Amino acid sequence: MHQPALTHLAAADPEVARLAEAEAQRQFEKIRLIASENYVSTAVLEATGTVFTNKYSEGYAGKRYYEGQQVVDQLERLAIERAKTLFGAEHANVQPYSGSPANLAVYLAFMNPGDTVLSMDLPMGGHLTHGSPVSATGKWFRPTHYGVRQETGRVDMNDVREIALRERPRLIIAGGTAIPRTIDFAAFAEIAKETGAILLADMAHIAGLVAGGAHPTPVGHADVISTTTHKTLRGPRGAMLLSTEEHAKAIDKAVFPGLQGGPHNHTTAGIAVALAEAAKPSFRDYAAAIVANAQALAAALLERGFDLVSGGTDNHLLLIDLTNKGITGKVAAKALDAAGIELNFNTVPFDTRRPFDPSGLRLGAAAITTRGLRTEHMPALAGWIERAVLAAGRGPLDDADVAKELDAVAGEVRDLLDAFPMPGFSR
Ligand SMILES: *Cc1c(COP(=O)(O)O)cnc(C)c1O
Repeated sequence: MHQPALTHLAAADPEVARLAEAEAQRQFEKIRLIASENYVSTAVLEATGTVFTNKYSEGYAGKRYYEGQQVVDQLERLAIERAKTLFGAEHANVQPYSGSPANLAVYLAFMNPGDTVLSMDLPMGGHLTHGSPVSATGKWFRPTHYGVRQETGRVDMNDVREIALRERPRLIIAGGTAIPRTIDFAAFAEIAKETGAILLADMAHIAGLVAGGAHPTPVGHADVISTTTHKTLRGPRGAMLLSTEEHAKAIDKAVFPGLQGGPHNHTTAGIAVALAEAAKPSFRDYAAAIVANAQALAAALLERGFDLVSGGTDNHLLLIDLTNKGITGKVAAKALDAAGIELNFNTVPFDTRRPFDPSGLRLGAAAITTRGLRTEHMPALAGWIERAVLAAGRGPLDDADVAKELDAVAGEVRDLLDAFPMPGFSR
């Protein structure tokens, strides 16, 4: 059963209630390895379902365009204070609707159309909003990119410096969606300083690790930091921008009125709760456990002959290059989903295949760590991943023998997960 209980929803709209119950059940039964996902606490779920959703609050606390902000002003100030304290930042804006609009606000704050941005290339592990040609950021600005070295699978900061000196970007972005290694924010800051660029650290994926002390912080190095709140940080879907005092005004103006209307106050409530959870000592243990799980899973996969980009991980995320297994990322991802293991196909650096059917798989350990799985469970998980990949190599997924093997794995996955409670669900 969904938690909190959906009593009113079930009475008013059984169809939607049934779908929410089905999704809760699905999340309970699957090993969820999508690197950008997590399970939020029941407290966060309750906070995001509050009457704050009824309120319009264009502007900022103390300077709103509608009346009736006595309570919302307190809520937003609370979320801001918690964000500043947790990350040690001088300024926080908790209004961006999600990570993509948060990044667009940074462009709006510092760039004019046609200005140059330097960021990680999408197929190398960057994000759409880092100047991809299909994104507004790639259409309206001039993107230039760094990547990883083919031999190491890692960013070489000398390469970044060389490109920055050549291209003279107005904005440099550090961060991405598929980076299994520690990001050297200090080195990025040095390059930004040398070339007169603004440095944006996009820590969407690793914010929870930063909060829990398991990844070096960009605070003190980057001019602006963008983050989603729903990945390793384990809050509701949303985003925040952190900055130095110097850039506070430009950031706030870019978010509102530059890009958005009224903030999603119910999300702000959920963010405030998640930030308080992330400030607890137990969250440091959580962040360390995520990295330990990812590294244990990496070791177990390497033992089974899987090829990992950069040879392993420093954080929550792994990238498998399936080329040596003779199977594509898309086929493997579909087989794994049928086997109760949910992840996404992903390009690997220097991929020779197309983005919609690339050579790789991306895995993250944040959600399984929330669920309570620990390093001792990782060898079994690697074994299930291998069985599903091998089964998919034997024939189409609807082939009776292949389907039987995937079903068998899904059953074993369900048996293990049965012992691990899921926030948001109870039996
Ligand atoms: C997830 C992500 C985003 C975008 O977040 P959305 O909430 O999906 O818009 C931006 N940058 C990075 C690095 C991300 O991983």
